[in-house]
Amino acid sequence: MGLMEKIRENFPALGQKVYGKDLVYLDNAATSQKPKVVLDLLNEMYGGTNANVHRAMHKLSDDTTMLYEGARECVREFINAPGKECVIFTSGTTASINLVASSYCRKFLKEGDAVIVSGDSHHSNIVPWQLACEIAGAELKVIPVKDNGELDLDEYRNLLDSRVKIVAVEHISNVLGIINPVKEIIQQAHKLNIPVLVDGAQGIVHADVDVQEMDCDFYVFSGHKIYAATGTGILYGRRELLEAMPPYMGGGDMVDTVSFAKTTYAELPLKFEAGTPHFIGQATLKPALEFAKWLKEGEIGKAVKEEEEKIIEYMTNALAQIEGCTLYGTAENKIPLFSFNIEGCFPSDLAQLLDKMGVAVRTGFMCCEPLMTRFGVTSMVRASFLPYNTLQEAEYFIKCLNRAVNMLR
Ligand code: PLP
Repeated sequence: MGLMEKIRENFPALGQKVYGKDLVYLDNAATSQKPKVVLDLLNEMYGGTNANVHRAMHKLSDDTTMLYEGARECVREFINAPGKECVIFTSGTTASINLVASSYCRKFLKEGDAVIVSGDSHHSNIVPWQLACEIAGAELKVIPVKDNGELDLDEYRNLLDSRVKIVAVEHISNVLGIINPVKEIIQQAHKLNIPVLVDGAQGIVHADVDVQEMDCDFYVFSGHKIYAATGTGILYGRRELLEAMPPYMGGGDMVDTVSFAKTTYAELPLKFEAGTPHFIGQATLKPALEFAKWLKEGEIGKAVKEEEEKIIEYMTNALAQIEGCTLYGTAENKIPLFSFNIEGCFPSDLAQLLDKMGVAVRTGFMCCEPLMTRFGVTSMVRASFLPYNTLQEAEYFIKCLNRAVNMLR
């Protein structure tokens, strides 16, 4: 068995047929398929160790708490956070950004201040900041995107001043697939003591993340994009900031003592984990991240890297050969994610035809309407790959795409 087959056999979903055709799943930037180790843990926990975390003096609750806290340690190690207390479980990237935008801004954002976001931002890295700015009477500023998809760092430097209270940028855009120079962005902001939040929804999957080396103040991501259960996510935060921030939601588990007169709060990380969390889902972060590590190491890691390089080269050339095809995000530092338009073909028509051939892609504005506007379109087609995708699948995709284009023109 080849190494790619060895990887793929971990994913039951990849073996299915759609409309009688072998599934070619290229909607990975939206969500990843799940490996057996994750599915097995979900089954074991729902069918066995099921009890609420942190609450009861009985074996099942203890076991669940161990699995939940074990996953937190695994996340800590995966991103090299300095301590487990800096790793907050949330329901996903969106929830993590909302937590920071709400709690941090309640404390630190005042009238006349400003927040900077990157122009390639997902709606979840725009709207929470807009809400916070509206409440505070602050201004939202935007780092422009250049024609090749890179962020305009000269303009960014011009936007930075003492009014800016936080910068929130994409690590990797979910439309352009370009790895942004987040270290440089952070260094510039830190010169003025401005904290930086990095949206790592795509970054955690495709880059090696070391939050200490990156020196970010917040790093957020979703579990479901990196092989774990849906409804799971992480907010990494610098300890001093998390400590200074007020609780986001109130309820069980986030308190120290409660009286009708006054409530005091639990220590980190529980201060930000009110209510029953998705503890079974969060526990799957451990097998999921261990699996992600396995994909990066040794001969498997080498095979994945080689296949990925071949896919990028093949896809870039093949798309360029399609008449009227515009690829968005052409800068060098890119992951295997391709958003494009083809003259004379509606993205939704292309996606529907591809679907009938077994190929799953994403279309629409991909939760990035301002970025679509920047490129003068309302929709794109996106094919996004993960390490379980093969060059053969890329070739099949291009064959099907050409067929679909011929049918539509
Ligand atoms: N940010 C980026 C870059 C994304 O790609 C996504 C999801 O596609 C999100 C944020 C939002 O993630 P979630 O819907 O898991 O909260």
